[in-house]
Amino acid sequence: MSTHSIHHVTAVTAQIRANLEFYTRVLGLRLVKRSVNQDDVSAYHLFYADAVGSPGTDMTFFDWPTIGPNVPGAGSVALTSFRVPGTALGWWHDRLTGAGTSPERGTDGQGRERILFADPEGQRLELVDDAGWTGEAVPWTESVSAEHAIRGIVGVDLQSARPDSTRRVLTELLGYRAAEGDSVFETAEGPYGRVRVLEPTGGNFGRVGAGGVHHVAFRVKDVEELLAMQQRIEGAGISTSGEVDRYYFQSLYFREPGGVLFELATDGPGFASDEDPETLGQRLALPPFLEPRRAHIEAGLKPLGV
Ligand code: ZN
Repeated sequence: MSTHSIHHVTAVTAQIRANLEFYTRVLGLRLVKRSVNQDDVSAYHLFYADAVGSPGTDMTFFDWPTIGPNVPGAGSVALTSFRVPGTALGWWHDRLTGAGTSPERGTDGQGRERILFADPEGQRLELVDDAGWTGEAVPWTESVSAEHAIRGIVGVDLQSARPDSTRRVLTELLGYRAAEGDSVFETAEGPYGRVRVLEPTGGNFGRVGAGGVHHVAFRVKDVEELLAMQQRIEGAGISTSGEVDRYYFQSLYFREPGGVLFELATDGPGFASDEDPETLGQRLALPPFLEPRRAHIEAGLKPLGV
């Protein structure tokens, strides 16, 4: 039993309108869900993904205007990587330059062509040549044509406070295997579920803020797999949240010993469970337990302008 690469990455913005503009207009992802943080309903929770909200394509943001900037350091996700066709990298370099970011084109440690850049709040991102492995994503072609479109998340870089412990969680609990030395880990399903474990630089711990990542979620097939993973993780002495109903998927959270918040999330039921696939993300979506408070919640949210 193992997890199946990345399910989603959830990050933090203090500028939700600029964030929406960048991820949909510049990066070309689709806003597939416009919701609120279930634990803080004054904050938007926006979900960007491919055209149908496939698991593994989804980067989501909490809108926390007063949180302050992200402090990088141990116990945090340092970078999120997306797949694009290798032939599109030149196009992306021009597009990102035109959007005012400073993209750097080069090669990653495994010899793959890539572009490193940051979103307007300093969120560190990477576009990696998918080497012809397109995956299951269905590109959203409103802003970026299919030949260039992002085709999902490759993986993340973890800045671990205890790299040895993080490596053990990945290999002994989540089903990853070492792909290169002790810094690059891949899922059994191939080279595109990739986690890099970085050694700590200096002694400081990271603090999550705008431009940083809140947590990374790994895919599990269904609730049965989720509960089996819960047993395994708790059996290793790591406490978990227990199963949490996130409505679009079932989740389990735990903090790995290196300090990064991990989530496991089921593939279903998915984002079309409460909306027409044609109109995903156009209306504020609330899970049933928040629906009775809709008027109050909507009154507390600023308009997004779309
Ligand atoms: Zn999550």
